[in-house]
Amino acid sequence: MFKVISNRLEQGYRTTTYPKEPIQLYSGFRGLPEINSQCDPVIVRQCADLCPQEAILAAEKKIDLGRCTFCGECAQVADGAFVRFSQNFEMGTAHREDLITSGSLPDLAAHAKIHFKKLFGRSLQLRQVSAGGCNACEADTNVLNTPFFDLSRFGIDFVASPRHADGLHVTGPITVNMKAALLATYEAIPAPKLVIASGCCPISGGPFHGSGEIVGDLNSLIPVDLYIPGCPPHPLTTLHALLAFFK
Ligand code: SF4
Ligand code: SF4
Repeated sequence: MFKVISNRLEQGYRTTTYPKEPIQLYSGFRGLPEINSQCDPVIVRQCADLCPQEAILAAEKKIDLGRCTFCGECAQVADGAFVRFSQNFEMGTAHREDLITSGSLPDLAAHAKIHFKKLFGRSLQLRQVSAGGCNACEADTNVLNTPFFDLSRFGIDFVASPRHADGLHVTGPITVNMKAALLATYEAIPAPKLVIASGCCPISGGPFHGSGEIVGDLNSLIPVDLYIPGCPPHPLTTLHALLAFFK
């Protein structure tokens, strides 16, 4: 016990002050893209041709964040003439179409469903299902339970049984083999319930889009309430989305 107390005194309080205070991420972090709408269409086309995710809509000069893996390739073209990545990690949206962006996203808190805030604002229990994920999304979700993020201080927890859950947090591209388990888990959660698509995999198939081994996007199976883009989403992106949507 003495060791625990002395460790605590030595290490101090490690939990982030976000969201009370802003937090600065490292310079290499790729967050919300800044898009130059005046960019030469030839350069935009070069970016679109280079994008492994087919996430750039060249004609509209937009990026689909539901497909983007934030690989950064497009920002290398013509020294970032069309796109550069900001360090803004607040990228969750309530609607799939909002992820197709020319550089700005709607205020998530303004789009949150009032009855969700009333029901789950003080206590939100989520059941996580990895529907064929590569484990990066899962690991970066798990990190939210570490002392730095301390997700449970907001009354948000991940639970083992869907019967104890208010909603489903889905990662991975929904493989054919995981479809039945995912749907069974969804059915086992008592209504009213919510669904969160975390990472580009459940939003669009991600790097696996077009594969015959995946079912397709999550929204084609069950109604999604909250989209969290990224590959994987940064833990702060997830934290911001959960707080803005439910708190
Ligand atoms: S950062 Fe996104 S939009 Fe740009 S090339 Fe990579 S996947 Fe495509
Ligand atoms: S979104 Fe990216 S990190 Fe997450 S499961 Fe899919 S491939 Fe892995």
